[in-house]
Amino acid sequence: MGRETGPKCKRCRREGEKLYIKGDRCYSRSCPMSGRGTPPGERAKKRRPRKSQYLLHLREKQKAKRIYGLRERQFRKIVETAKRKKGVTGETILSLLERRFDNTVYRAGFASSRDQARQFITHGHFEINGRATNVPSVTLCEGDLISVKESRQSALRPFAEQNQGRDVPNWLERNAEAMRAQLISLPTAEDTKQTIAANLIVEFYSR
Ligand code: SF4
Repeated sequence: MGRETGPKCKRCRREGEKLYIKGDRCYSRSCPMSGRGTPPGERAKKRRPRKSQYLLHLREKQKAKRIYGLRERQFRKIVETAKRKKGVTGETILSLLERRFDNTVYRAGFASSRDQARQFITHGHFEINGRATNVPSVTLCEGDLISVKESRQSALRPFAEQNQGRDVPNWLERNAEAMRAQLISLPTAEDTKQTIAANLIVEFYSR
């Protein structure tokens, strides 16, 4: 399934905040959003978009999609799944997004970005509970263990070392030496660490 292509930083400028799409550069001073981060386009400063409810909902949905690097169909599927589950739909959406295999690899610090994590997974470097899995969209459950295949550890270790300084969320327990991480609990809304107002996304799809 195709993904959104084109300049990544432009997506952050459009949403008006850092979405951490590019990996190392996002944590450095060369991130364009460290400055003024105006929306893209020649006349962006002059444009004053109408702040309708629809626009608010749309932008929140677009922001979440861009953070997690998903296409509309994939994102809508997650929303539909969340609606069918018990609990607060918005929180379930965030939990499902966080528990994607590619996001977990990124959160555990085995890759610099979600794009890189996706690439590592599709190239067959990772396992879930000891079984080789090359599908980035797998939703992980509490207790699942992700690990780098033993034969690929030397190739991926430099990437993991590069990201060791990054915080690992509370719901993950990382063993950097063994290059594995376990979901010790399910992520909560506070754990997502992104400023996503999931209720606006639910409203967008409830129109
Ligand atoms: Fe570019 Fe990353 Fe900064 Fe976004 S956060 S503007 S992707 S460097």
